[in-house]
Amino acid sequence: MPSFFEHAQQILVGGVNSPVRMFTAVGGTPPFITHGKGPCVWDREEKKYIDYVCSWGAIILGHADQKTVDAVISAAQKGLSFGMPTESEVLLAEKIQQAMPAMEKIRLVSSGTEATMTAIRLARGHTQRDNIIKFEGCYHGHADPLLVAAGSGALTFGRPNSAGVPESVARHTLVLPYNDAKALQKAFSEYGSTIAAVIVEPIAGNMNMILPKKAFLDALHEETRRHHALLIVDEVMSGFRVALGGATALYKLEPDLLTLGKVIGGGMPLAALGGKKAIMDNLAPLGPVYQAGTLSGNPVAVAAGLAVLEQLTPRFYENLASKSKCLTEGLTEMARQAGVPFCAASLGGMMGFYFSKTPPESFQEAKAMDLERFRRFFHAMLEKGVHLPPSLFEASFITSAHDDHAIDETMGMAESALRLL
Ligand code: PMP
Repeated sequence: MPSFFEHAQQILVGGVNSPVRMFTAVGGTPPFITHGKGPCVWDREEKKYIDYVCSWGAIILGHADQKTVDAVISAAQKGLSFGMPTESEVLLAEKIQQAMPAMEKIRLVSSGTEATMTAIRLARGHTQRDNIIKFEGCYHGHADPLLVAAGSGALTFGRPNSAGVPESVARHTLVLPYNDAKALQKAFSEYGSTIAAVIVEPIAGNMNMILPKKAFLDALHEETRRHHALLIVDEVMSGFRVALGGATALYKLEPDLLTLGKVIGGGMPLAALGGKKAIMDNLAPLGPVYQAGTLSGNPVAVAAGLAVLEQLTPRFYENLASKSKCLTEGLTEMARQAGVPFCAASLGGMMGFYFSKTPPESFQEAKAMDLERFRRFFHAMLEKGVHLPPSLFEASFITSAHDDHAIDETMGMAESALRLL
């Protein structure tokens, strides 16, 4: 009898609908999830896992949060989509803006990819420049200008990071090392007048979790301002995840454009971009930069987003941060006792588990972590009933539903898993 995973691979490419779900980085067979509640998910064999994937950060109140589910049901009963404006879209945008005042004007879209893709187009339209800067190891979704790897020299423009991305598109993206203020200054001194925007994950969550250095954040502001380029802060992951106002509030960032996704949709397809009014008003229908969406501001997704955001307070994030701190500190101590080179960091509901002696500060350092050890740890944990993100290059997530019991259970399982390494 073929396994369900084999069966799935007959019809879905790789058996999945997004690459990381195939477990390529860790090997083995992904469990197929049937349902979730609170901190846990269950698979087809009814095996329970304490979940630290949390829909890659979208779930912050635990699975099937009752208020969110009720809001979704109530919205669905009134109609699934209209393609006409609704009041709740305005309410959600206002709710987002309260926490993120840098978003003077907002456009709701359906995925993080759409948000960043539009932000890039808008920055190009607004500045009438074509080139952009991104950082190695940062992921901003899969739009062509962002699927670009560093060029062959330190300051050469990029090359496609995926088949199907034209060289002529990649040529407009300069890829620089994360956290490297000097490289940014150098790039601006050479190409400043051609740069439309710099896009950055203010806390990098797509190469495990890498915290930004102050000098790097300062240089982002100084260089973009000096050269009249836009600063696009991509908070699709960190927004409403690390703090109520995201990394923008934590680090007092001043983005020209800001992108959100994940948490603001509460597990439904919803994302947003926003920023300075004078820039945002370049979007259609007011301005010449085109963007549209049949399902943009979908009423069911908006209802989910509103139900989640209404429950988020500064106090909520204090509690969340104490949970993630308890787990990261506990694991670090256990690893020390087991003699495993390991360290960890957390901010709000986002965590980095590093199989290295010190936290990585760049993609190069992230790549130097002990991948083999992580794989063994990942599978030992999965076997015991803890689902970590299936790649060392991903951040882990915790929700308010991860109670003391879930955290204690996780630590108990981790203790024995770490001893086996
Ligand atoms: N930006 C960041 C920082 C992300 O982490 C992601 C997805 N992980 C995206 C953009 C793309 O979002 P989506 O998967 O919703 O298209």
